[in-house]
Amino acid sequence: EQEEAMSLKDAPAITSDGFKLELWGNIAHPNEVSSVLSFGGKGIGLFRTEFLFMNRNNPPGEDEQFEAYSKALAEMNPNPVVIRTMDAGGDKEIPYLNIPKEDNPFLGYRAIRIGITEEGLLLTQLRALLRSATYGNLYIMFPMISSLWEVKRAKDLLRKAARQLKEEGIEQGSAKIGIMIEIPSAALMADELAKEVDFFSIGTNDLTQYTLAVDRGNAKISRWYDHLHPAVLKLIDMTAKAAKKHKIELGMCGEMAGDPLALPILIGMEFDELSMSPPAIPKIKRLTRKTSLGRAKEITQKALLMKDATEVRTFLEEMTSQL
Ligand code: PEP
Ligand code: MG
Repeated sequence: EQEEAMSLKDAPAITSDGFKLELWGNIAHPNEVSSVLSFGGKGIGLFRTEFLFMNRNNPPGEDEQFEAYSKALAEMNPNPVVIRTMDAGGDKEIPYLNIPKEDNPFLGYRAIRIGITEEGLLLTQLRALLRSATYGNLYIMFPMISSLWEVKRAKDLLRKAARQLKEEGIEQGSAKIGIMIEIPSAALMADELAKEVDFFSIGTNDLTQYTLAVDRGNAKISRWYDHLHPAVLKLIDMTAKAAKKHKIELGMCGEMAGDPLALPILIGMEFDELSMSPPAIPKIKRLTRKTSLGRAKEITQKALLMKDATEVRTFLEEMTSQL
């Protein structure tokens, strides 16, 4: 099966009735770009930059970050690379940030909250990103957005970085700007947020965790954690509709993007791009080519009316077993 899927390496991910989906890979280090390419990925939908900041005593400087980003961009060029600004905090500990011990780290001082508070850190990262943009097709993505003001603040900082580079006579490129939709408030406000950005990428790992109040890493409560829960599907649907209305790009980079069961729903909502762990790409491509947009839309409408995750899961198992 994997072999059959791999034989489609260079074929497009297109449904039987002509709907085209982009399948991209998630990476945590620039040297993983080659793995995405080898599985037929046509872009990087999530470059988690935390690795650059972890297991060390001080933050990486602008030049070190520039090296890492430009390497990934050059190797993927002209295909897109979505680079997410540092998503520290939560379960990802970074000692030199001196984050006080928190009772609820997942609800704590993390990601964009750090970025717009300790501006120097994010400013350095944004300078490195703008410099690297001349090497490829850069999308800059901000994590853990919960409100409109954070997007505005992050964009202000990006403009500041661009202004500084210009004044210093340092070469810079342009980038598309987007946000992760991974907090329920962002999904609920997607119609407003869409006016501010070029793209959304839905982070279903955190969106599921925060919607269902289930710690994503706690095995004991894993039966409560399900991205097919209708409440999660409704938030994804709202986000998708807002993206379509405002004609911005719609992607997904959480685990759900690589879940074969979820695929008809994601096609039915007309996602432009799904980004997943590279080995998942061939199978999702094979299934996409066996699906039709028309049928996927019917499946999506039915699933959105279901009463609980089990009902959705059983229904989707039945639907996808026919592929
Ligand atoms: C997510 O939350 O779905 C996501 C892709 O980000 P991370 O897993 O890095 O939190
Ligand atoms: Mg996340």
